[in-house]
Amino acid sequence: MLGSTGRKTPEELRAWEKEKKLIPVMIKKYCRAKHKVKGGGMCEECASLTEYALFRLEKCPFKENKRFCSFCRIHCYKSDAREKIKQVMRWAGPRMIFTHPAFALKHVIQMIIYRRNTKKAAKAKENV
Ligand code: SF4
Ligand SMILES: [Zn+2]
Repeated sequence: MLGSTGRKTPEELRAWEKEKKLIPVMIKKYCRAKHKVKGGGMCEECASLTEYALFRLEKCPFKENKRFCSFCRIHCYKSDAREKIKQVMRWAGPRMIFTHPAFALKHVIQMIIYRRNTKKAAKAKENV
């Protein structure tokens, strides 16, 4: 895969590069369906969410072998943006199965692992 610089992306950064490409795709999909924006554009709110998400990705401390933001242990988004991106992901994530099946499948796998680990951690806390 070629990265945004046009150079070959190292293996460890592929997930990060892919997410940078697909976040705008997902937000656009969501905007078209929910905000009825036609012609491949986005409403102002979705455009600024896209800009913010890409900015956060650039600053992300977990770029190498990156997991999806939804399953991040620190979640660096400010709270309103976090709520918005959650809505987008919840809606657009499953729909990516038709256009980007590997990406969607990876999301499901990470979600299962994340939920399992969260449950384990909660149980461990109860037993302290
Ligand atoms: S939420 Fe986590 S994974 Fe996503 S950009 Fe922020 S620090 Fe990185
Ligand atoms: Zn929109």
